[in-house]
Amino acid sequence: MEILYAVAEAAPFVKVGGLADVAYGLPRALRALGHDVRVILPRYRTINGSAYDLRPLRPPLPVPLGLTGETRLVEIEVSEATGVPTYFIWEEHYFGRDEVYGYPDDPQRFIFFCRAVLAFMRHINWRPQVLHGNDWHTGFLFLWLATAGRRDRFYRPIATVFTIHNMAYQGITGDALLAFGGIHEHVERLEVEPPGHVNWLARGIAHADVVNTVSPRYAREILTPEFGFGLEPLLQRRADRLFGILNGLDPEAWDPRSDPALAARFDAETLERRAENKRAAQHAFGLPLREEVPLFALIGRLIEQKGVDLLLETADALFARGIQVAILGTGMPEYEAAFAQWPSRFPGQASVRIAFDEELSRLLYGGADVFLMPSKFEPCGLGQMIAMRYGALPLVHAVGGLADTVRDVSQEDGTGFVFAPFTGEAFLAAVDRALALYRDPAAWRVIQRRAMAQDFSWAASARAYEDLYRRAIAWHNP
Ligand code: ADP
Repeated sequence: MEILYAVAEAAPFVKVGGLADVAYGLPRALRALGHDVRVILPRYRTINGSAYDLRPLRPPLPVPLGLTGETRLVEIEVSEATGVPTYFIWEEHYFGRDEVYGYPDDPQRFIFFCRAVLAFMRHINWRPQVLHGNDWHTGFLFLWLATAGRRDRFYRPIATVFTIHNMAYQGITGDALLAFGGIHEHVERLEVEPPGHVNWLARGIAHADVVNTVSPRYAREILTPEFGFGLEPLLQRRADRLFGILNGLDPEAWDPRSDPALAARFDAETLERRAENKRAAQHAFGLPLREEVPLFALIGRLIEQKGVDLLLETADALFARGIQVAILGTGMPEYEAAFAQWPSRFPGQASVRIAFDEELSRLLYGGADVFLMPSKFEPCGLGQMIAMRYGALPLVHAVGGLADTVRDVSQEDGTGFVFAPFTGEAFLAAVDRALALYRDPAAWRVIQRRAMAQDFSWAASARAYEDLYRRAIAWHNP
């Protein structure tokens, strides 16, 4: 199959979160199955062109702006660095910035990107069977293909798949942006859109041939008000087109046997070497080098979704248990400030690094005993999978992809510590289960080995996407 994969971020070029890892791993796995999949994303200023051998593709591409027929010329660059042809759309005004997201004109930036994607296919005269878009940034593609694109022989045959990576980010704008996107006709308001507004995540859900999210459990959860963020009526209407496929993890990118960021490389047979990583992690975080003290780690965005309130709320009780906690993350200023107080409140026990540092994260995955991921909701989550692969036992809230990937040690085949409901008490009870097991090193190792043996590779998920693409094609061309 020929598939164009449109996304706002992709590792290793540019990464804000798990979306970038998916945009790296899935296309590679689909290539390995023999598909002609290609990735397209904006060329942000921060992308290092020479590191990935980006080359210009001539001639430049005219992209329409608004309704007037005015166009803007953009440069297209291509890289083969990941083994998947990856195209970059360079337009200085929209993408010549330091951050990927967070600007008031993000909707314009990504609608422009979508128009460039559409123009690009025709420009290189390559019509994929499937256009696969991700998150609200690509929502415009689906609206356009379902309206203006229907009248165009080039675009009409293209089947579409839309993947939701997180319901919390929807991209809601005024409907004046329809004209900015070059849509002339009247567009019927969706049941979930306030009058005069467009919800770009909803547009992907409403118009794609097939919609999916990144774990089976999250696909069910988002049909409910608790997790649907207001879009549950629309999702329920499209429930027969909604699927859940667990994200994979690239086994080469995340391999404790060869990871150069580790102080000591190891596998399930040489778990004793983790002690060296623990020492190095304690050293890097300025914590006392004590092998016998359980080291808990949290790596992730410091935002409400990640359940960091539970940590802040239970801090006194948590540290009274004599553990060490290392935190690596960036996020909401309030949370950053609250965690920044921990080292002085809990000296020798807490260390907090407000930074995005992949190397340090790898050392921590390889040295921590317990990996904390108490998310309030979690579409899939990669942190817990990386942790398991690196022998750090995950402690997670029973929700979304966390519930799909971690089993509590009280069950047969346990791989970590799973708590519910989302309360400080349940969280602390899981901490205590972890500490009880930790006191029995032989039992701990059994669980570590089992966690490390879990297969989270992309191969199985890529097969499921193959099925999804077939369905989309069949539904698009009945
Ligand atoms: P999300 O996509 O919601 O941020 P995921 O668990 O799916 O959460 O993916 C997070 C990814 O980003 C993981 O690979 C994690 O290791 C990485 N990550 C998050 N915060 C940091 C940080 N401060 N430093 C290094 N890596 C980080």
